[in-house]
Amino acid sequence: MKIIVQKFGGTSVASPELREEAVRRVREAREKGYRPVVVVSAMGRRGDPYATDTLKDMVSQACECREQSLRDTDLIMACGEIISSVVMASMLCAAGIPSLALTGGQAGLITDGNYGEAQVVEFHPERLLAHLRNNEVAVVAGFQGVTHDGEINTLGRGGSDTTAVILGAGLGAEKVEIYTDVNGIMTADPRLVKGARIIDHLTYNEVCQLAYEGAKVIHPRAVEVAMQHNVCVIVKHLSAPEAGTVISSEAAAAGEARFSPWEARRVITGIAHTTGIVQFMVEMDAHDAETELAMFDNLAEARISIDLISIFPERKIFTVKQDALLPTEAVLKKMGLTFKVQTDCAKVSVVGLGMRNLPGVMARVVHALNQKKIRILQTGDSNITISLLIREEDLANAICTLHDHFRLSSPPSEDERVLA
Ligand code: ADP
Ligand code: MG
Repeated sequence: MKIIVQKFGGTSVASPELREEAVRRVREAREKGYRPVVVVSAMGRRGDPYATDTLKDMVSQACECREQSLRDTDLIMACGEIISSVVMASMLCAAGIPSLALTGGQAGLITDGNYGEAQVVEFHPERLLAHLRNNEVAVVAGFQGVTHDGEINTLGRGGSDTTAVILGAGLGAEKVEIYTDVNGIMTADPRLVKGARIIDHLTYNEVCQLAYEGAKVIHPRAVEVAMQHNVCVIVKHLSAPEAGTVISSEAAAAGEARFSPWEARRVITGIAHTTGIVQFMVEMDAHDAETELAMFDNLAEARISIDLISIFPERKIFTVKQDALLPTEAVLKKMGLTFKVQTDCAKVSVVGLGMRNLPGVMARVVHALNQKKIRILQTGDSNITISLLIREEDLANAICTLHDHFRLSSPPSEDERVLA
C-alpha cells in the first residue's frame, strides 16, 4: 500500500472553492496510486466563524480558574479542526471518494495532558490502517489528541503540521504533503521581503532552525519528528502543486539529481525572525555564583523560557517573549536584583548549513547591518545559525539588508559555493 499524508492548512480550507481545490489534490493522489490520509486545520483566520482564534476569543477571560480555563479552551479550540474535517469528508464523499472524518483521538493520537502545548506520546495506527485497506480517505482533525483519560489536548500553534508528520511516520507513508498559502519555504517571510525566493530543497536541520527561529510556515516539532523518522515532507501551495520545497536528510539532498550540487552548501539558506522580544540585563556581584544560580532556578520554576543568554561576571543578559515580561520582572524584583529592561526587540536569525566551520560569516553580518546603522543589541549562534537581537523598528530593514547582502533573491552561483 503506497500511503501519502496530505495536510491542508487554515487558509487552504477557508472557502468552498479552496476546499474543492483540496479535493482535487486528494483525487490526483489516488489517481497516482496513493492511498491518502488527509489532515486539516481549522477553516480560515481570526474573524472567520470556526477559526482557532475566533473560537478561543469566545471564551477568553470568561473563566477565572486557570486550570479549568486551559482545559476548556483546548476543548473549544479542538472544535475548529473537527468542523473542518467533517466538511472536507463530506465534500470528498460528494465527489465520489469514500471518506469519513476522525478527531485526533479517534485517529489514534494519545497526548501527554499538557493543555495548549501537548506532545503526542503514542500513535495507534490500527484504525487508520483499516480505513486505508478499505480504500477510504480518513480526514483527521489536526492539532489535537486525547489523553489516556479521555481529555482533549491541542498541540500548540501550527500543530496540524505535527499531526500530519506523526501520521506519516507511524503509517510508513511515502511522503507528507503540507499545503499552504505560499509556494514553499522561502529565503525569508515573503510578507516582509519582496524578493524572497522559494528554496527547492532543504535539510531537516535547516528547516528545524528556521522554524524554531520563527519561520512559521512549518511547525518546528513537525520537522523534528520528520527528522527522527526520516519522513520526506514537501511544502507547497494548494494551487501550485508542481512546485514546492522538499525537506529531507542531508544524504538524500546530496543524492537528489535535480538539485544543483552546491544548493545545499550555500553559506546562508534562509532568514527567520521573531518579534515581541524583551531583553533583560541583570547586574550582580561578580563573585555571587549562588544568586546567579538561584535566578536561573527561579525563572525555570516560574516556567519562564529564556533565550539568547550571555553570562558575564557582573552582568547576566537574556531575552524572554513579551508575554513573560511581567512574570520575569516579578521574579527579579522578589530577589531584590537590579536590572534593566529593553522592550520592543526582535530577533533575526540567518541559517545555513554552509556556515558550518566557515569563518567570517558573523563579520559579514555585522558589517552589513552597521552600514545601515542598525544597532545589534546582542548575538547568539549555533553551528548553522547566527541570531541577532535588534530593535523591532529595524526589523524589516535588517532582514532585507541581510537578504540582499547574501544575494538570496537569486539562485546561488558557482562562486558562492561553499566547499565541503
Ligand atoms: P497554514 O495555515 O497553511 O499552516 P501558516 O500561516 O501557518 O499557514 O504558514 C504560512 C505563512 O508562513 C505564509 O503565509 C508566510 O507569511 C509565513 N512565512 C514565514 N516565514 C516564511 C518562509 N521562510 N517561507 C514561507 N513562508 C513563510
Ligand atoms: Mg501553519
